[in-house]
Amino acid sequence: MAHYNITYSCGHEERIELFGKVSGRESRIEWLETQMCRACKAAQDSEGLPKLSGTEKQTAWAARIRRTFLDQTESQLGHVILTNPQAAEAANELLNLVKDSINEQTSAAWWIDNRDRLEPEFAKMAMAKREVSKQAD
Ligand SMILES: [Zn+2]
Repeated sequence: MAHYNITYSCGHEERIELFGKVSGRESRIEWLETQMCRACKAAQDSEGLPKLSGTEKQTAWAARIRRTFLDQTESQLGHVILTNPQAAEAANELLNLVKDSINEQTSAAWWIDNRDRLEPEFAKMAMAKREVSKQAD
């Protein structure tokens, strides 16, 4: 076990503890130095999205989960919008409803707790929003 000072690609430094073989530690350090620090990664993952509440560790993890889910949803529904004209309007509406719901979900703990069931959770929220907007019409 030993301590190392890492300079991340964003320029931030951190003192970390590494275990295991020396050769393994060296390649781990090399790899880490090509990465951004946790705070900068989280900031990048949160671009254009509301700030998450929670501890630094939780928000970094949750930001990653949220970014991945948003990207997946955009690419899935984007594909439908581009390739299926009949479903395009509904898919576009669903995408907007899901994005609204994503923006409202700012608890890091919620994202972490629900990370394995984001699709059904957001489908439920989107449906509820659609009901409300129908009633308002
Ligand atoms: Zn940084």
